[in-house]
Amino acid sequence: MSNLILLGPPGCGKGTQSKILVNSKNFHQISTGDLLRESVNSGSNTGQAIKEIMEKGDLVPDNMVIKMILDVIEKVKKKFIFDGFPRNINQAEQLERSLAEKEKKIDHVIFINVRLNILEERIKKRIQESDQSNRRDDDNVKTLLKRVEIYKDLTLPLLDYYKEKNLLWEVNGMQSIEDVSTKISEIISN
Ligand code: AMP
Repeated sequence: MSNLILLGPPGCGKGTQSKILVNSKNFHQISTGDLLRESVNSGSNTGQAIKEIMEKGDLVPDNMVIKMILDVIEKVKKKFIFDGFPRNINQAEQLERSLAEKEKKIDHVIFINVRLNILEERIKKRIQESDQSNRRDDDNVKTLLKRVEIYKDLTLPLLDYYKEKNLLWEVNGMQSIEDVSTKISEIISN
């Protein structure tokens, strides 16, 4: 059983690559962003608080996100792809401890590397291609720039964290979707 983490800046293609792996290799995708958006859509008070945080591009408090992750790990028996989680060192440490308690572990951490200056172009394209009804509330340039800042400050240190554990692999995320996907398949077959 190979559990994966896909790491990379907002807009690097983690969601797209996760879906390819779900369809081709029977993984279960755990996207904290999707789980949080479900909570927002539920209309609860917590959902409203989460919505405001996400619209600003900030991180939702670790304890909320970790609880969501643990609920899924508890229920699903397939191998996992963590998409958008962990986002900081505390989340990574908590994930490791929780998995160890269940005699599970992370096998590969795949960093999809995209130059930060081309992300803005990608997000503008995503905004143009989506219609108003299915557009993410955090798909705007101001929020994206905030998310990139948070990524640099809090998420990038995870590269060294996983490198030290010999789990880190890097893929050039500026290739075609197919080429990125082929590279990921090669890595996880190791
Ligand atoms: P994503 O769909 O992964 O791009 O995430 C969208 C937004 O959800 C982020 O900008 C954060 O506000 C929130 N979010 C997603 N994953 C996490 C996480 N692991 N920790 C904290 N906040 C998160």
